[in-house]
Amino acid sequence: MKKVTILGSTGSIGRQALDVIHAHPETFTLYGLSAHSSEEAFCGQLLAEKPHRAVFSLPLPAVPGVELAFGEEALLDLAGDPAADVVVLAISGIAALRPLLAALKAGKRVAIANKESLVCGGDLVKIALSKGAGELLPVDSEQSALFQCLQNGRRQEVEKLILTASGGPFFKIKREELRDITPEQALRHPTWSMGRKITLDSATLMNKGLEVMEAARLFDFEGEQIDVLIHPQSIVHSMVAYRDGTVMANLSRADMRLPIQYAMTWPDRIPSPARKLNLWEQPELQFYRPDMERFLALRMAYDCLKAGGGYPVVYNGANERAAELFFAGELSFLGIEDSVSYALEKYTNRPMDSLEAILETDALSRRLVDEFASTRSFV
Ligand code: NDP
Ligand code: MG
Repeated sequence: MKKVTILGSTGSIGRQALDVIHAHPETFTLYGLSAHSSEEAFCGQLLAEKPHRAVFSLPLPAVPGVELAFGEEALLDLAGDPAADVVVLAISGIAALRPLLAALKAGKRVAIANKESLVCGGDLVKIALSKGAGELLPVDSEQSALFQCLQNGRRQEVEKLILTASGGPFFKIKREELRDITPEQALRHPTWSMGRKITLDSATLMNKGLEVMEAARLFDFEGEQIDVLIHPQSIVHSMVAYRDGTVMANLSRADMRLPIQYAMTWPDRIPSPARKLNLWEQPELQFYRPDMERFLALRMAYDCLKAGGGYPVVYNGANERAAELFFAGELSFLGIEDSVSYALEKYTNRPMDSLEAILETDALSRRLVDEFASTRSFV
């Protein structure tokens, strides 16, 4: 029986991780839950799931049978709790970085959905992994696909990692028309149902930019060895091209419960609540090369990965802040890309060798986006 803690249980990934646990009462038992601001949803989960431990960002009324605590220190304590076997990291944004480091230091298996923490905390995560017994198992569908395809050969035999991207809802729209996109339009994702921020990131392709850096961190490859391929149907989740010309691909229906479960059970595979893929029922599978001129977000990500240091942190932090401003109606859709580009231009690089350096750089990138937004009326 594996004891599981879900950090970010009220979110899209968190709720699906709970589904996976419910589907396998003989394999998993719930240990801990955490959430941030969704008070009603979290209280509902505590009453229904009765975890041993729970952490919320603000005080909540007591729930009988649940050890309830509040705030970031309590969250870090839960992340590193020796009693749990697997920590599902489903918190969104850079807020997941400290819990990630705490879980790895405590030697946990981390089923990691959060990509922002990997992009920003690259070196610190590497050190935490090398020092202890902690392990990282990717949940992000593309990274899970790469992880699975990479099990079919040796590292030095790999020519390319090929990340697929749905292209988001505006893949066929001309750049000029993107200017007037509203939050409502940006939240209509064609193939996946996800949290608000990642859905927006998919529309701007910032998500794919983050994933290029995430893949580089997780599997230790350079940007030159990572390609992006637009695949609107989201059936092929990513591929690995080997030097003999063989391409290994990972296919399934677009259902996050599959990669969540695999990260929890690896190296075993068990039946999943996800519907099976019948290829004959699928529309034609299509693939296109992305237009790097149009999707500045992707090109900036490759540049940040190459430049290293704090650039990936600025890319992420500026994008997180720009997303907040976009949802608040204070920045246009293209303003997201423009403000990230502005923050990167203004930034002077420095090494990211401590958590403080990362958090300072993150804060700086947010200030730069605010500066960008305040100097323009509505951009
Ligand atoms: P959601 O916005 O749906 O959920 C985020 C969760 O994190 C919620 O439980 C939220 O709590 C919690 N949270 C938010 N801010 C904080 C904070 N400052 N401190 C502690 N907890 C916090 O996000 P998703 O589930 O969509 O995504 C989670 C992560 O997984 C992201 O990094 C995303 O990129 C990644 N991912 C998601 C996929 C998906 O299909 N959704 C696919 C691949 C990766 P509350 O609701 O109480 O505020
Ligand atoms: Mg993904």
